[in-house]
Amino acid sequence: MVDDQLVGRGISDPRVLEAMRRVPREHFVADGMRHRAYNDGALAIPCDQTISQPLIVALMSESVAITGGERILEVGTGSGYQTAILAEMLRPGGTIWSIERHSELSRTAGEKLNALGYGDVRLHVGDGSLGLVDSAPFDAILVAAAAARCPPALWEQLRIGGRIVIPLGTAEQQQLVVLVKSESGDPITQIGIPCRFVPLLGAGI
Ligand code: SAM
Repeated sequence: MVDDQLVGRGISDPRVLEAMRRVPREHFVADGMRHRAYNDGALAIPCDQTISQPLIVALMSESVAITGGERILEVGTGSGYQTAILAEMLRPGGTIWSIERHSELSRTAGEKLNALGYGDVRLHVGDGSLGLVDSAPFDAILVAAAAARCPPALWEQLRIGGRIVIPLGTAEQQQLVVLVKSESGDPITQIGIPCRFVPLLGAGI
């Protein structure tokens, strides 16, 4: 997966490549889908949601630009796979908060993350479009669900110099966008590849 799907398509951040070599993706998919865990695509998980394609996980992780020790908020824990990749990349320091609206997914992700030694991730059940104001500000925010625009609460909870990685667009088609918060507080926008995510639902959109 790493050589064919990631290195071969331009992923070069050693932290991302090492994390994606280490974290067993089959651990995060349903038992009946383990043989497809390393396929070049998204897979269904419970609650009508998806575990993202490995390339998308890698691109989002690279876009977060982790150097170590950051405070990161993830919106949309899903299976917990992306969370584990971020946790692996952050080691030995840093903190991840991850919020998911489906309690069933959050509970299962928590069990899986614990079993692999990523039990220090702080999982929350709730509406991630509102962020986690009590834990802000964050150095980076990764949103794993699609919206028409960046939720204002997430932008407010980002520190100056921090970045949000988010798929922005319509329900059918989005682009992976990185918004960097400049010294003036204005966004510097970097537009990435086309993608298709499940929708970000919530009151903060
Ligand atoms: N990155 C995840 C993984 O590795 O499995 C996949 C995330 S999945 C594409 C998107 C997730 O965002 C879903 O689990 C969905 O329930 C969640 N979601 C959508 N809107 C949300 C919200 N407002 N707050 C929290 N989670 C939300």
